[in-house]
Amino acid sequence: MSKLAFMSIAENLNVLREKLGSARLIAVSKQQPIEKIREALEAGHRSFGENRVQEAQGRWSDLKPLYADLKLHLIGPLQTNKVQEALALFDVIETLDREKLAAALAQEIKKSGRAQPQLLVQVNTGAEAQKSGVLPENLSALLKECEKLELKISGLMCIPPVDEPPALHFALLKKLADRHGLPQRSMGMSGDFEKALALGATSVRLGTAVFGERLPR
Ligand SMILES: *Cc1c(COP(=O)(O)O)cnc(C)c1O
Repeated sequence: MSKLAFMSIAENLNVLREKLGSARLIAVSKQQPIEKIREALEAGHRSFGENRVQEAQGRWSDLKPLYADLKLHLIGPLQTNKVQEALALFDVIETLDREKLAAALAQEIKKSGRAQPQLLVQVNTGAEAQKSGVLPENLSALLKECEKLELKISGLMCIPPVDEPPALHFALLKKLADRHGLPQRSMGMSGDFEKALALGATSVRLGTAVFGERLPR
């Protein structure tokens, strides 16, 4: 068991914030018990990540209205039939990865009159068949389509393949973001966030480093 597991969540957050400097800490609360989430909220933390719309609704619909400055990030794949629910709950959607989804988001934003959430495009830097994310060679076309749809994209996100050193993927994401003038780079998880920071992450998504091990689904 890691040393962090014996520390409180408030202590974990303090230690991590110090390491992060100006980078944002997204506390990934998926599959974590609600008491731990409350502990993070009581410690003043306000940015959280969830990877499933339905699971996020279950725990955040009641909790979110209590914290005006809370920011919820969707960090898992989004199906077009869940767009309406996602827009109602999330402040940031980090997993825009295809034109069909961009069109569905643009349409629902118009229809609902909601403010556009912050949008990041997920890039499948390892070109893995089972992973979502736009392939690097298709990124330009997707960004052009978003522009046509009047969707403002603020950055890129990636999840490196588990069996490869992540540094190359972080460096590639940084290069792609720079090339397209996108200021935000969401990269790095509990096991590799220090490397991601060194390579230009502006936000890291940390689950186990903040909360300890996840509960099984
Ligand atoms: C679960 C998850 C994380 C957090 O993973 P940890 O290794 O627990 O930090 C980060 N990003 C995404 C997309 C995730 O699904």
